[in-house]
Amino acid sequence: MSSSPSTRPPPHGLHEVVDPSTGAVFTSIESAGLEETDAAIERAHAAYPDWRAVAPADRARLLRRFAAVVDAHVEELAGLEVRNAGHTISQARWEAGNVRDVLDYYAGAPERLSGRQIPVAGGVDVTFKEPLGVVGVIVPWNFPMPIAGWGLGPALAAGNTVVLKPAELTPLTAIRLGELALEAGIPGGVLSVLPGPGSVVGERFVSHPYVRKVCFTGSTRVGQQIMRGAAEQLTRVTLELGGKSANIVFADADLDKAAAAAPMGAFDNAGQDCCARSRILVERPVYDRFLELLEPAVRAVRVGSPGDDATDMGPLISPGQREQVRSFVEGDGVDVAFRGEAPGGDGFWYPPTVVLPHGSDARVWRDEVFGPVVAVLPFDGELEAVAMANDSVYGLSGSIWTRDVGRALRVSRGVEAGNLSVNSHASVRYSTPFGGFKASGLGRELGPDALDSFTDVKNVFISTEG
Ligand code: NAP
Ligand code: MG
Repeated sequence: MSSSPSTRPPPHGLHEVVDPSTGAVFTSIESAGLEETDAAIERAHAAYPDWRAVAPADRARLLRRFAAVVDAHVEELAGLEVRNAGHTISQARWEAGNVRDVLDYYAGAPERLSGRQIPVAGGVDVTFKEPLGVVGVIVPWNFPMPIAGWGLGPALAAGNTVVLKPAELTPLTAIRLGELALEAGIPGGVLSVLPGPGSVVGERFVSHPYVRKVCFTGSTRVGQQIMRGAAEQLTRVTLELGGKSANIVFADADLDKAAAAAPMGAFDNAGQDCCARSRILVERPVYDRFLELLEPAVRAVRVGSPGDDATDMGPLISPGQREQVRSFVEGDGVDVAFRGEAPGGDGFWYPPTVVLPHGSDARVWRDEVFGPVVAVLPFDGELEAVAMANDSVYGLSGSIWTRDVGRALRVSRGVEAGNLSVNSHASVRYSTPFGGFKASGLGRELGPDALDSFTDVKNVFISTEG
């Protein structure tokens, strides 16, 4: 690793890594090209027969050991993410712990990946859940560690080998996880980490005949492109794409609690979260009161150095991302209601911002901002709340604040989204399914069912005729 001033172009194959809280280059890494990608896919293909043949209990033991090694490096991994992605230290510790927990959880899978025995005439019929082969995991910059873990954990547990591409902006923790896997005894070639451009490494995952499945998280546009490319060889895909999730606050809710929770439901990870509740829908009778309560909660969000334990929100990932966020707030059809503070200086800072769009056709109400901007609109009654929530191409997450249990369930069933929370904004648990409706994606990650998307079912009939 070396550091160089950001003005000098890096030598061929080297990629500079920037600290978003200062804007300064602090290291550079070797970037993979087509040749390295093909070589890694071939190594993963060659490692596959032995890896799938590892006895279930031994594969489980190796994954538990990998989890233990990650656990021993939580501080180091978290520190890398603070520096590379500007994540707050408390968030980054959670993220490294999440990789450990996902590995521990799926370590239970190799010994439980059972098929069925189905009654038939003339013999015995059994099914097997067979691994697919090489799985390509493409990771975005917003949650480099968890999203890597959600792909590689169940993929390896089911007996696949993995090639993983981190985002060019945030490669450091993935590279380190690849090293820790080897340290834990995961055989060489079973997990390869390939930092490099999406248009080279990522596209090769899609086009290479040895890659049997691509697990992608990122923008809807690239997700669509991957699905088109995957059609060529019927490569399996899991897609986890954008969101524009609704936080629906009913008049009967605990308003203090709903207002206190709303800022971090939207500004967590500086709003660069596909689950961000970036649209707040408030029932008209409590609309003014809710905004009165929301203002001090937004002003109290501590934006600053991501390494400080007390910080709630760090910088954005890049100058480009900040420009994108600005364009939503400075456009027509939107008023800024109030905003918090952010540091000045060379980092990619943006203050937490609450906007009032002029109507539901405003761009800030419809498109994913992926930054610390939340829009608020009033609604009249349950039916309108559901209709407004569903008036979006996306359907990833959402929250419902009410004291009425029946309404909570009716609205939960009515909202077209994969992950809903009642009186909470929590949407990710390693033991429960996660994924999107509509343009938010295809397939589910995490939980007991994720293994189905890393296996194919094989049916075997054994004749018992004499
Ligand atoms: P992106 O372009 O979709 O990138 C996501 C990942 O896909 C990165 O690893 C990227 O690599 C890779 N990639 C890019 N082009 C590819 C291609 N043609 N084939 C295969 N892989 C490819 O997303 P972004 O540019 O980072 O962010 C743009 C917007 O997407 C954000 O502003 C946000 O709205 C949305 N987004 C959503 C999520 C989510 O969690 N759902 C995550 C990130 C972004 P490189 O970047 O290294 O080239
Ligand atoms: Mg991109």
